[in-house]
Amino acid sequence: MIDAGAIRHDFPVLSRTVYGKRLVYLDNAATSQKPRPVIQTLVDYYEGYNSNVHRGVHALSMEATQRYEEARQKVAAFIHAPSAETIILVRNTTEGINLVANTWAASNVGPGDEILLTEMEHHSNLVPWQKLARQKGARLRFIPVTHDGFLDLSDIDELLNPNTRLLAMVHVSNVLGTINPVRELTRKAHAVGAAVLIDGAQSVPHMPVNVKELGCDFMAFSGHKMLGPTGIGVLWVKDDLLQEMEPFLLGGDMVKDVHREDATWNDLPYRFEAGTPNIADAIALGAAIDYLNDLGMKNVRDHEMQLTRHALEVLSELAGDIDLYGPKDPSRQGGMVSFSSREVHPHDLGTLLDREGIAIRAGHLCAIPLVRGRLKVPGLARASFYIYNTEEDIDLLVAALKKALTFFRAKGVAASHVH
Ligand code: PMP
Repeated sequence: MIDAGAIRHDFPVLSRTVYGKRLVYLDNAATSQKPRPVIQTLVDYYEGYNSNVHRGVHALSMEATQRYEEARQKVAAFIHAPSAETIILVRNTTEGINLVANTWAASNVGPGDEILLTEMEHHSNLVPWQKLARQKGARLRFIPVTHDGFLDLSDIDELLNPNTRLLAMVHVSNVLGTINPVRELTRKAHAVGAAVLIDGAQSVPHMPVNVKELGCDFMAFSGHKMLGPTGIGVLWVKDDLLQEMEPFLLGGDMVKDVHREDATWNDLPYRFEAGTPNIADAIALGAAIDYLNDLGMKNVRDHEMQLTRHALEVLSELAGDIDLYGPKDPSRQGGMVSFSSREVHPHDLGTLLDREGIAIRAGHLCAIPLVRGRLKVPGLARASFYIYNTEEDIDLLVAALKKALTFFRAKGVAASHVH
């Protein structure tokens, strides 16, 4: 069980006010807040042993290197990766996916090949593939999304075929919350010889994730969405694919030996970490993982399911005023709810909620083809939860939402805003 009321005290920012109101932070899918141990880890590094890694012979450098490599081991254990050598530390999910597009995919996707995505991809798991497909003469295909926000798998046996080189899909949708059947789809993809990349940006921070059990080949996620600092993320690659991948960024630290005309690559995973890495943030990500492990990821998931159940219940009181998107089933979605009003633009809703101290996300949520193309709305409002959120936060959201809708109705600000 998670005691969100007690946990809140570890998060300094949660005690601040916004426009004189208590901050109710419900934008966790965008980025999470940071607990004191994570912040303190950054301070300890800069005050106590700031130095470069992997190359120093002095005490500070050895200490920094040890902590940096310990963080890598913590990441590996957290997602049940077989070894720390398969963990590449990058900036974020976006960089992890771009690394795969520029390395493995650049040498394994050719003319006429197919890359299968879903209609619910974040731009970061769409735009890199668009460029690659253009360069290689490959074709992008999409698993459709049903009205209730699930993947429509009725044509999956045709969509996944011997031309499919890669299935790249989101584990948990940042728009709908849908938890996708990634394990089953990975099996199917492997059966036709395709590799599988999973965008774990919204799953790894919120539920137990085991890459061995999922069976995928690549998994990318961001530290800043899981209590860690910004600027540190992870790409996990299955060992056999990693061995054959060419490096992406070239320079110092990723080489073993260098001659005037040639160079040999460093061991794994260093050959994918050119230049001075993000040392402080990597070590602090290790602290974030310690914090999550102390809570237990199953407890994190249970807490968010409970909050989602409560949110769906109380938001149903507004059934005539707002439309809810996604599964509307706490066991089949991550800790978030997305909604729109038929009368009020989501940006206007977000602005009024902000005045009440409530931080939510509003807009296309970096998934324009899904939001505007498929759901056919100008944008959505999204409230997303984490370990420090309480049912009271959600009640405050709903109360503020009622107030905002009443305000707009009274003002007669209406459908003109909603195209
Ligand atoms: N994929 C999903 C599903 C996301 O929710 C996000 C962040 N909103 C990203 C990718 C991109 O993450 P980042 O900006 O940290 O690279």
